[in-house]
Amino acid sequence: MFSRILIANRGEIALRIIRTCKRMGIETVVVYSQADKDAVYLKMADRAICIGPPQAKLSYLNINNIIAAAEIADVDAIHPGYGFLSENAHFAEVCRSCKITFIGPPTKAIEDLGDKISAKAIAKKAGVPTVPGSEGEMADVDAALKIAEKIGYPVLLKAAAGGGGRGMRVSHNPISLRANFQQAKTEAEAAFGDGTVYLEKFIESMRHIEIQYLGDEHGTALHLGERDCTVQRRNQKLIEESPSPAIDKRTRYDIQMAGVRLMKEAGYSNAGTCEFIYDLKERKYYFIEVNTRLQVEHPVTEMVTGLDLVEEQLRVASGEKLRWRQKDIDRRLAAGGHSFECRINAEEPKRSFAPAPGKISLYCPPAGSDIRMDTHIYSGYSVPPYYDSMVGKLIVHGSDRLDAVRRMRNALDELVLEGIPTTLSFLKEVFGHAKFVAGAYDTSFVTSEMGL
Ligand code: ADP
Repeated sequence: MFSRILIANRGEIALRIIRTCKRMGIETVVVYSQADKDAVYLKMADRAICIGPPQAKLSYLNINNIIAAAEIADVDAIHPGYGFLSENAHFAEVCRSCKITFIGPPTKAIEDLGDKISAKAIAKKAGVPTVPGSEGEMADVDAALKIAEKIGYPVLLKAAAGGGGRGMRVSHNPISLRANFQQAKTEAEAAFGDGTVYLEKFIESMRHIEIQYLGDEHGTALHLGERDCTVQRRNQKLIEESPSPAIDKRTRYDIQMAGVRLMKEAGYSNAGTCEFIYDLKERKYYFIEVNTRLQVEHPVTEMVTGLDLVEEQLRVASGEKLRWRQKDIDRRLAAGGHSFECRINAEEPKRSFAPAPGKISLYCPPAGSDIRMDTHIYSGYSVPPYYDSMVGKLIVHGSDRLDAVRRMRNALDELVLEGIPTTLSFLKEVFGHAKFVAGAYDTSFVTSEMGL
């Protein structure tokens, strides 16, 4: 096992990784930007190294400075967390060329799955259904019009390098497709430095279901059940849960197996997530993309399996064999109850969820059995304006979905977070909404039912 690792991230995920490392007797080195000099994760780590000014490009995305910090601190490995450099194949390769283990999948898997078009090709090879659409890049608008004619409207233009729900455009007819095509390309170029776009059938009523995958370098390939991330706004997740209330036993099994097949086909090891769309009308599932890292919503999987995913990642990256078989996991899932996660963002829901950084005057976390609050905030902490607006994740576990709903309601009521606008009132409203409680909704829920 590693004796010292560097965490190339910040905030709640840096803290979360430190906690597991401490338990495992691994020393931690964290990096920080000048904007994070008062962050609590600096105090929890064994060593903290400043890597630059506030702008992410100059600090958390600055590969040279991060590698320099890793060499100064003489670490064995780097954990990238999520976001920032976590899905950057070049960074993974630089780590490896410096003889530092990258805690994540092989570089080739990051490359192959990072491009959504090539990921779809891998899915097809593994016999996993993909959303009807273009086989590859849409070179020009005429090619897009031709495919759209074949699969039928509405259609969705997506960026091959896309992420975070950005760069997607729905078209309901040839006129809007014509208008959207160049805009989508320009948007993708600006956001990801790659203007490649492809086309998919737009699924009008769907659930987002994803499989947590875990594999080692010795041939063991497991799934840890699914997560349902259907409560979204502008294709961004807000609430996640496990298991999904929307699929039957057979569909669940099929999607789980499809996820494992796909990841094996990609030569994947370590933790990763295979994302699917479940079409509620047709009752069919389709692969959409793989996230080659630990996800924000991994705690719900930890709650229902009892595993520590960061520990598993560290063990796999250091070359160990997984200690689990699928039947061990299945047994845990069968008795695993239900878990929810709420993302608490410094945003104003009533003002289009506009980011609202600032000073937190008072923070009192909820407590109780089966309640977990993953956060880096404290009373007096100032949320910097430079990074993601998520300030914490509230996770609960219950014996079944209704029990978990009740626990989440209590926990949300107990949580005190004052001084800045947050999504707390919005989350309370969701957990009181009859359709949400019944589990009967699709990805349009926040817009259609809550008018936001
Ligand atoms: P990103 O990488 O930007 O997050 P994804 O491909 O993972 O993009 O999709 C994010 C979300 O966008 C999905 O959870 C879903 O809500 C919506 N979406 C993606 N593809 C489709 C589609 N073909 N039809 C309808 N909605 C889609």
